[in-house]
Amino acid sequence: MWHSLFAEGQWRGEIWDRRKNGEVYPKWLSVAAVRNRENIITHFAGVFSDISSVKQSEARLEQLAHYDFLTGLPNRILFYERFTQAIRQAEQRNVMAALLFADLDQFKLVNDSLGHRAGDQLLIQVAERLAACVSEEENRKNDTMKTASVSRLGGDEFTVVLNNVSDVARVARAAEKIVSVFESPFVLEEGEVFISPSIGITLFPEDGREPELLIKNADTAMYHAKELGRNNYQFFSQKLYARASERLTIETKLRNALAENKLFLYYQPKVNLGTGKISGAEALIRWLDEDSRFVSPDKFIPVAEETGLIFPLFDGVLEHIRQITPKVRKALGRNTFRIAVNLSSRQFQDRNLIQKFGDLILNGIHASSIETEITEGAVMRDPDESVNMLNALKDMGICSSIDDFGTGYSSLSYLKRFPIESLKIDRSFIKGIPVDTDDMIIVRSIIALGHSMDIRIVAEGAETKEQVDFLLNENCDEIQGYYFYRPLPEAEFLSVLENESEGA
Ligand code: C2E
Ligand code: CA
Ligand code: CA
Repeated sequence: MWHSLFAEGQWRGEIWDRRKNGEVYPKWLSVAAVRNRENIITHFAGVFSDISSVKQSEARLEQLAHYDFLTGLPNRILFYERFTQAIRQAEQRNVMAALLFADLDQFKLVNDSLGHRAGDQLLIQVAERLAACVSEEENRKNDTMKTASVSRLGGDEFTVVLNNVSDVARVARAAEKIVSVFESPFVLEEGEVFISPSIGITLFPEDGREPELLIKNADTAMYHAKELGRNNYQFFSQKLYARASERLTIETKLRNALAENKLFLYYQPKVNLGTGKISGAEALIRWLDEDSRFVSPDKFIPVAEETGLIFPLFDGVLEHIRQITPKVRKALGRNTFRIAVNLSSRQFQDRNLIQKFGDLILNGIHASSIETEITEGAVMRDPDESVNMLNALKDMGICSSIDDFGTGYSSLSYLKRFPIESLKIDRSFIKGIPVDTDDMIIVRSIIALGHSMDIRIVAEGAETKEQVDFLLNENCDEIQGYYFYRPLPEAEFLSVLENESEGA
């Protein structure tokens, strides 16, 4: 101040002063040097103003800019600052820093069913519990450095940053603790609700050196946690990342394949063990990639499900079915032949499905020439809804079968309620015949169980004579497997059917 007054003749700035009552307050001081004729400073003139109210509003602004209005937690901006700082400190001290990224499971449901006010209340309480949990974590460590901080990024997303991490176990413990604070219900005016978090975790420096990348990767890990059934935490790892980027590549390629009509159907005949004749076929999708190689549906169906591409993909399947059905009729010389299409779990929950089959029927395809296959896992996801959907299909005249049977957890009571034509025993059980006695017992029981309920049994994946003989002996109804036929491209499939009709 003195330097500036002598050199420039004035000074302005904030100072602290004390009121008569002893209270310290900020004031704004503007001082000017007053000179005489000889240009020598004789005295100073100053103007003071009390700026405590300005200071207060500044603090409020700071609060608004850095803290979340609803919960009072640090917001995205402050989180970012702190996280960056945590990374810098970790780097200096040669330790790790961890980011735990938590998203509430099905928070939208609370908002939608109880209203936004209830949603807000819930977020406030979640924030309180997280803050309490984190401050415990802080007290535990007797460190000069702040060791943990919680923020709300927005919506139902919260983060916890752990500083000065020397072992990963501490991070896992912190994650466990966060999961555990959701164990008791949240008491809202509207009643008690339970909610759980899915948490994705990244570590500096393992999973990235920059905050942006660490945040992005934590987000990926969080989605993985959701996939694994919510209410859990997942560490992001290189492996996880590799999978994520592979999925992304598949998604892009699949979009192109759809646009360029690079998707085909193969048809695998099913053989009736009573007559020895072809009784139907399953349509299996094939994707011809840019190197003219077929990509396995096991690779891209899950991605198509996740991204919603399954819907346009299925439209393509139905279009193929529409085109091949008259050709099948011509090749066989009869009308009674069913082609089965696979429905993934997401499609099965889609109400438009019925409409799509309706359109197909309006296009001249008889309902009795189509069949649907849906996996046991998918029907059991929401058994009541599944019963409705299967009934809706049945009302249209479309039969359904349960695919990959034996791998899910059907209860007998549901099986009775499902209006289905057939069960397809999963390939993994057929594989064990004739060595694995457990598999043989399971196959035998499924056949007996199905027959007791008037359900036909199809065995999938029979490759050897022993397997076929065993199945024949057990009164299995149909076989779909390499022993008889592999999935065939359209032309080959049609010529197989022609040969059959000639042989008849
Ligand atoms: P899935 O429905 O269980 O289909 C049977 C799979 O077993 C087919 O594999 C078929 O080629 C294979 N298979 C049949 N017989 C044998 C055998 O004797 N030995 C062996 N080792 N394998 C046999 P694919 O074609 O690779 O299909 C895999 C899965 O992809 C299907 O399993 C199905 O879940 C799904 N998928 C295929 N096409 C579609 C589709 O159009 N839509 C949907 N949503 N899923 C599809
Ligand atoms: Ca199938
Ligand atoms: Ca199957």
